Amino acid sequence: AVLEQIEEKEKIYHCYVTVDTEGALRRAEEVQKRIVAGELTGPLAGVPVAVKDNLCTQGLLTTCSSRMLRNFIPPYSAEAVKSLERAGAVLIGKTNMDEFAMGSTTETSVCGPTCNPHNPEHVPGGSSGGSAAAVAAGECFFALGSDTGGSIRQPASHCGVVGLKPTYGTVSRFGLVAYGSSLDQIGPLCRTVEDCAVILEILASGKGEEKGIIRDSTLMEREEVDFTAALIEDVTGMRIGIPKAWLADRAAGGTEEGLDSEVREAVLNAAEVLRKKGAVIEEFDLDLAEYAVPTYYTIACAEASSNLERFDGVKYGYRAESVEELHQMYKKTRSAGFGPEVKRRIMLGSFVLSSGYYDAFYLKALRVKAMIKKAFDEAFAKYDCILGPVAPTTAPKLGESLSDPLKMYLGDIYTVSVNLAGLPAVSIPCGMDKRGLPIGLQLIGDCFQEKKILRAAYTYE
Ligand code: GLN
Repeated sequence: AVLEQIEEKEKIYHCYVTVDTEGALRRAEEVQKRIVAGELTGPLAGVPVAVKDNLCTQGLLTTCSSRMLRNFIPPYSAEAVKSLERAGAVLIGKTNMDEFAMGSTTETSVCGPTCNPHNPEHVPGGSSGGSAAAVAAGECFFALGSDTGGSIRQPASHCGVVGLKPTYGTVSRFGLVAYGSSLDQIGPLCRTVEDCAVILEILASGKGEEKGIIRDSTLMEREEVDFTAALIEDVTGMRIGIPKAWLADRAAGGTEEGLDSEVREAVLNAAEVLRKKGAVIEEFDLDLAEYAVPTYYTIACAEASSNLERFDGVKYGYRAESVEELHQMYKKTRSAGFGPEVKRRIMLGSFVLSSGYYDAFYLKALRVKAMIKKAFDEAFAKYDCILGPVAPTTAPKLGESLSDPLKMYLGDIYTVSVNLAGLPAVSIPCGMDKRGLPIGLQLIGDCFQEKKILRAAYTYE
């Protein structure tokens, strides 16, 4: 049924880089046999899944939507993919994304953009735009994405689906092509909060890595990963804080910064719903909120410049032709292999890490990161959850964002601090704007408190 949906809708939305029809049918048949034999039970047995194209899949093209990896077929699968397959999920294909997960619209993909299923003239958000659009369009039942600065939550918000970024260290990053290693986390994009809880249970560590072999040194042994136990429709007495700075109206400021008034209204309405159901809602001052974007882009670019060093034409994917010596091969390969946004970030990252600037930029950003974490610690001493918008606006039109990277970076204002502090956060639909484009609500929890945000999200939904 999912392949039929793909057949019909893929021409319009372009959610996938690779649809593995033959492989999917083969895997489905094997799963079917195991189900019939009684070897496989559980909620994911036989459920089709789409996976973002920066997660390695054994024997299946993994391009990161980049020319650099256009012919890269990994010899192994990411741990997160393996966990799902062990639970019986059937891999359908690989979803489109911003090149190397750098972007907020899925337009930096070398394969061309994905369109928003609510209105194909608009972007699906990014960088996991293909995953979000595939779920929204019914081209899969759920999908995996990665979130370095909002890349699960923001496209979920723009496409009207549920997206969850777990606490850093919850899901093994082994086999995820690294962007900003200290920020990257894999998570699910689903139709409902319940689906998210079910999938998180399977992805969470302990059930993930093979016993005794640690392949992601930041992976934590999590206790109490029974996230579905949190699906209780009750927020009585739950304390929820809304950062005042996140509600600043863009119309009032007369600038490009701040929140669109329709988004603001929808988010405040959602808060009101939770208040009526028994939560205690308060506005508060979240310190340093205005430093999140510059801090994030300094650290993310620094890590990206280091992580992307490996793409040199020797080990992976693309290699430039007609070269005379090694350095020329590196240069030509990287010049032709990477797109403009990736190059911009490699240059920014190399700059902030270079001697003479390291202290002034990179080190300073690390200090501010620690202070941002402290500001959240103080907030979570008072509140169970933080509530806010996911993005300042609904999905922009295709082509609107690419010309102004700074504006695009500023659009990440409500999501990036969560990654800097390593926190879990979920994005759930909370309304539509006048044009019929979805609006997302963000619920953020303290480290390891996924259950609290799932409970609030489930109650709201
Ligand atoms: N939009 C952000 C960026 O471009 C976040 C991307 C992500 O989470 N992968 O860095």
